[in-house]
Amino acid sequence: MQTPVIGVVGAGTMGNGIAHVFARAGHTVLLADIDQPALDRGFATIRKNLAREVAKEKLTAEQAEAAATRITLTTRLPDLVAASLAVEAATERFEVKSKLFRSLDEILPPEAILASNTSSISITKLAAQTKRPGQVIGMHFFNPVPVMRLVEIIRGLQTTQATFDTVSALATAIGKLPVEVNDAAGFISNRVLMPLINEAIFAVMEGVATADAVDTIFREGMAHPMGPLTLADFIGLDVCLDIMRVLHDGLGDPKYRPCPLLIRMVDAGWLGRKSGRGFYQY
Ligand code: NAD
Repeated sequence: MQTPVIGVVGAGTMGNGIAHVFARAGHTVLLADIDQPALDRGFATIRKNLAREVAKEKLTAEQAEAAATRITLTTRLPDLVAASLAVEAATERFEVKSKLFRSLDEILPPEAILASNTSSISITKLAAQTKRPGQVIGMHFFNPVPVMRLVEIIRGLQTTQATFDTVSALATAIGKLPVEVNDAAGFISNRVLMPLINEAIFAVMEGVATADAVDTIFREGMAHPMGPLTLADFIGLDVCLDIMRVLHDGLGDPKYRPCPLLIRMVDAGWLGRKSGRGFYQY
C-alpha cells in the first residue's frame, strides 16, 4: 500500500496523537469527532505538539506545516469513505464503540481495515459487530502518542494474518514498534502494569511504606523512570480502578481485586494529577 488514507475517530487525548503520527509520516488523515469543540481542541493540540517538535529540531517548520495540512477535520463519519484504515479512539464504552464499528463497516470500502485503540474492550467482540471480522484488529498506542514508540497489535480471534501484517508494517512505517498480543483482558501492558500499581497501593494501605518510599524503591532500585504511584496519579486513579475491574471480571481471579484504598480515593474524587490530588498533591 502507498501511504494509505487514514481515518481516525475521536480527537481526544489519544485520537489527536494518532492523527499527528500518521500525518507526520506523510499520510492523509481524516479526523472525526462527534463534538466540534473536541475536534478544534484536538487540532490545536496537534499544532502545539508539532511546534514543540520543531523547537526540539525533530522536524523542520515546513514539515510540521505540511503534516498539519494533511489533516482534515470532520464531524461526519461518512467523510471517512476514502480511508483504507480507520483507527477508532473514541470514548471507552462498548455501546459507543460497537455502534461506531457497525457504522464504519457500512461506510469504508470492503477491503479497508478497522482498528480500535481500546485499552480493555475485546477486539473479538468489536469484530463480531461487522461483516469483516478478519479485518478488525487492535492498535493500542501509548500516551503521549507522538513520543511513545510502542503499539500493542491485538489479534482478535478472527483477525487474518494479512490484516496483522498490513497493520504491523504500517506501525513500523510511522516509526512505531509493533508488538503482537492476543485478545485477552488488559492485553499485556495493563495486565502486568495494573496489578503492580494495585499491589503498591495495598502496601501503602497496610502501612508497609509511604507512597514516596514505594516510588523511590522502584526508581532507584529498579531503574523505573517513575514509581508506580506517581504513574498511577499520571494515568488517573479512576482509569486504574476501571482497568482493575476489567481484569477482575475478564480473568475471574481474585488476585485482580481492586485495592480498597484505590476505591476509596476514587470515591473521594482524588483522581491523581487531573483532580489536583492523588497519592501526591499537584
Ligand atoms: P478522550 O475522552 O480524551 O477522547 C475521546 C473522544 O471521543 C472525545 O473527543 C469524544 O467527543 C469522542 N467521541 C465519543 N463518541 C464518539 C463517536 N460516536 N464518534 C466520534 N467521536 C466520539 O479519550 P482518550 O483518552 O483519547 O481515549 C480514547 C480511547 O483510547 C479509549 O478507548 C481509551 O481506552 C484508549 N486509550 C487511552 C489511553 C490514555 O492514556 N488516555 C491510552 C491507551 C488507550
